[in-house]
Amino acid sequence: MITHPVPGHTRHAQPSSSPAREVHPIRPLAALVGASQQVPLVQGGQVPYANLDYAASAPALESVAARVNEILPLYASVHRGAGYASLVCTAAYESARAEIACFIGAGPTDVVIFTRNTTDALNLLASAAPGPVVYLDVEHHANLLPWQARGGRVVTAQPTLAATLSAIGDELARHPAALLAVTGASNVTGELLPLPDLAALAHRHGARLAVDGAQLVPHRAVDMGSAGVDYLAFSGHKVYAPFGAGVLAGPRDWLDAASPHLAGGGAVREVTPTTVAWADSPARHEGGTPNLLGAVALAEACRVLSSLAPGAAAHEAALTGRMRGGLAALGATVHTIWPDAVESVGIVSFSLPGTDAALLATYLSAEHGIGVRDGRFCAHPLFARLGIDRAVRASLGLGSSSEDVDRLIGAVETFMVQGPSWSYQQSGGGWQPVPDSRPMPDALPGSACTEA
Ligand code: PMP
Repeated sequence: MITHPVPGHTRHAQPSSSPAREVHPIRPLAALVGASQQVPLVQGGQVPYANLDYAASAPALESVAARVNEILPLYASVHRGAGYASLVCTAAYESARAEIACFIGAGPTDVVIFTRNTTDALNLLASAAPGPVVYLDVEHHANLLPWQARGGRVVTAQPTLAATLSAIGDELARHPAALLAVTGASNVTGELLPLPDLAALAHRHGARLAVDGAQLVPHRAVDMGSAGVDYLAFSGHKVYAPFGAGVLAGPRDWLDAASPHLAGGGAVREVTPTTVAWADSPARHEGGTPNLLGAVALAEACRVLSSLAPGAAAHEAALTGRMRGGLAALGATVHTIWPDAVESVGIVSFSLPGTDAALLATYLSAEHGIGVRDGRFCAHPLFARLGIDRAVRASLGLGSSSEDVDRLIGAVETFMVQGPSWSYQQSGGGWQPVPDSRPMPDALPGSACTEA
């Protein structure tokens, strides 16, 4: 199917009111690599990229890139060399671990393990949890499939958050569990779960609390100790440190009793041809050469985040309110899970009646240079519960400004009033602008594979 622009055509009723524009702009909070990036439009010309897709992956903080560049001249193996560069890199890696432990309020019996990302961290925890696990059906697949695979017990989210907590309590009371695994913030709606309440609930029933912090840690200070969080998983690429590292933190007892995450060098004490004595954590679960750059990048990002903490939440709340209000004023449905969720981070999923989310997202990119995500965001059960097929997700971060939000609202309004100005063709479950002559950057290596 091809959709063509129709001059003068009104796809939707005129929105009842234009989104409010504040007099005072809300500016970005931190310097990010690529903040002034221009992107091409299908109709020609370039505009500054409006990145509203932080929830998927955030750009690097400038200070993170600087820290990585600072390390690169001395880059060498971690835990494996006697040379000066190796000593420096080993010290940098271990001090990154200590800084991250401090940033998340890990306790003395906790261990911080570097993983690839949140998915990796939660799969590691799933291999270590010694008993039954309880999880919710609103989770990202990373915090659902590992538990489903090991026969975990799913609790269906109830119409209110309060009722959902009761349902979790009932489930924990009915059958003992070793672990309750929940998300800190929904990657679909941004709604926060009350971690101290969940921790109290889990602990009352003899279970530990594991938190998928992939969407929480980029937006809120998390203190594992005071919140009662036992295990915390998060990803570097969502906290402005896209160098391939993530974290699993929590009590070492289960982790030291578990099979190593990856069998190999660095994870052992002693090996014979037929036997092995595994090291304790963290080495036990960090087999292979460690990701030094990922670890130092992540520690630097944590340093920046901790220096921003209180102001960042207010900045984000102002932008989120502006986005939600602007979209709702246009007649968009802004999705939420619970009416009584009191707090949320800057993640807004929305739908326009009768509009394919993929077409809207493609249009926003092609004609307006706005980056959002569309689909079901690796949360299929939640979409089924909400009764929606697909949505568009706009998410905010430290580089977001009111201009980005206003551009989104303006572009959605234009779509609703006059439809796209370009032609789009359905392709592979999505949409493609036709024609699309946007060039790829010169820096991108050619895709042709030439024979040697
Ligand atoms: N949990 C949540 C809530 C997420 O949003 C994501 C990423 N979309 C993940 C887990 C998985 O993160 P990663 O892809 O970095 O492993």
